[in-house]
Amino acid sequence: MSAPAPSTALPDTPPCPRHPECAAVGTCARCGGFYCEPEAIQHGAHTYCEACGHLPEVSHLERMRQKLWGKRDGWAWLMLASAPLHLTFTLAVGMERLWHWVGVGAADTAVVVAWFLGVRRARPALLLLLPLWLGVMLLTERDLWVLVPLVPAMGLALWLYASTRVRLYFQLEVDRERLARLWDARENNPLARHALVCGVAGLVLPVAAPVAMVLGLLGLHRVNPEARPPIGKGNHALAGVVLGGIGLVFWAVVLLWRLSLGLSPLP
Ligand SMILES: [Zn+2]
Ligand SMILES: [Zn+2]
Repeated sequence: MSAPAPSTALPDTPPCPRHPECAAVGTCARCGGFYCEPEAIQHGAHTYCEACGHLPEVSHLERMRQKLWGKRDGWAWLMLASAPLHLTFTLAVGMERLWHWVGVGAADTAVVVAWFLGVRRARPALLLLLPLWLGVMLLTERDLWVLVPLVPAMGLALWLYASTRVRLYFQLEVDRERLARLWDARENNPLARHALVCGVAGLVLPVAAPVAMVLGLLGLHRVNPEARPPIGKGNHALAGVVLGGIGLVFWAVVLLWRLSLGLSPLP
């Protein structure tokens, strides 16, 4: 057998148990084992070895990643729901012998079904569908105003392509920064987020105003910067309470005004 690999570790520094060629630089906050520089994982104030740093109980981001890994989101189901429409379109243009459009319809159907099945190539393929539509429209010399709805559709396709949630569905690696942003949007105090949405809705829909206040108060109660992971979005919760209050006062004034005119309380 060959001689042992040359060590770059200083003679008095213990080597990393998993990477004997590297010197250990610290001990893991969970298992107490040595770790080397390349594998060290930092969560808040603590540093972990590679194995512990990825454990769900250590990393809330890792827990979320595992929960969403390969799991269909609402968009995947929407893709499946749209498949019969694309298929109907394909058959309809087929009966009219519009072969360019048959190609477009068949491509659409294939991409949405592949998306639902989790075929990774569906993700970039979605970006190609709209240029395909555009190409066929130009080829068939349609009025160019029909291109207007393609602009938001292309925006949506680009957004889906870039979406962290969609990347997780297709089991594509996502860096910690993206995971942290997704966690903030999805898991960080959802009550506060719902309170804000209801607060805005309460300005046009009376019933949403008291809901916003209740959700906002619950959301405020949950805020805890000391928790691991920290629970934030206190400003969202507060905005929900304030907007809910404004909505409630506004609708009370409207109600009193209608009653004072002898009108029915409901329009
Ligand atoms: Zn460890
Ligand atoms: Zn190591």
